[in-house]
Amino acid sequence: MKEDHPAPADLLSDIRSFLAGERELFGETLLIDPRLRGDSTMSRSKSGPAKPADAPALFELPAPATLPITDEAWGNAQSLDALNALVCTCVKCPLGRTRTNFVFGTGNPGATLMIIGEAPGADEDAQGEPFVGRAGQLLNKILEAINFKREDVYICNILKCRPPGNRKPLAEEVDLCIPYLRKQIALVKPKLILALGLTAAENLLATTESLSRLRGRVFQYEGTPLMVTYHPAALLRNPNWKRPAWEDVQAVRKLHDELVAQGR
Ligand code: URA
Repeated sequence: MKEDHPAPADLLSDIRSFLAGERELFGETLLIDPRLRGDSTMSRSKSGPAKPADAPALFELPAPATLPITDEAWGNAQSLDALNALVCTCVKCPLGRTRTNFVFGTGNPGATLMIIGEAPGADEDAQGEPFVGRAGQLLNKILEAINFKREDVYICNILKCRPPGNRKPLAEEVDLCIPYLRKQIALVKPKLILALGLTAAENLLATTESLSRLRGRVFQYEGTPLMVTYHPAALLRNPNWKRPAWEDVQAVRKLHDELVAQGR
């Protein structure tokens, strides 16, 4: 039986619009899924730093933390929806008065990979969903490149409300908001957390190290393995970081798969 093939002109037009989309998001760096190249590792340039795509070695994980999160009623929530319903009217900090929407989080409530960003921006504040603006589109592409769909993972932020003008979260805001994130982690129970950008990393790891020193290593947040990479908004500003970010997310995929296979 004769198979239906697209006309060459249609194929060319599809390829053109795909490449235009890639250029819009990634600039001149064309990221190629290693599966399409027939190998499973990054090619390494002789001159550039040889950064393995391999996941960092696994380490002994301590038992998951049992630190109490809160004695408020929401601490007993048995699901993400129940938690959201209990905390979405929060006005513990002034951001509760200036937000349009409380941006709780989105995705698979049983996700094995949890992605944590900084705080909602204007688009997220308007729509009530994390990572829906330009940085979010890039995040979707990055996830697709390592064979995750956005709906496979769970995506949220350190802060649930937008800081005015997208300024960095204040320590007092983080102190008041991070218990909600800890409860989200306790409910989702991800195998691996990916922290996007320095603000997420600083607050989850209580570190002052630079992002270039944090990436490529495996940490843990209260018993859950955690890796760090560049924030997609930073990648949009600095295309030079796209290559290391690509290496990071391949290592994330590998470690994630190992942790899932081990049932850890
Ligand atoms: N940047 C973030 O850190 N989080 C979002 O949800 C959007 C942009």
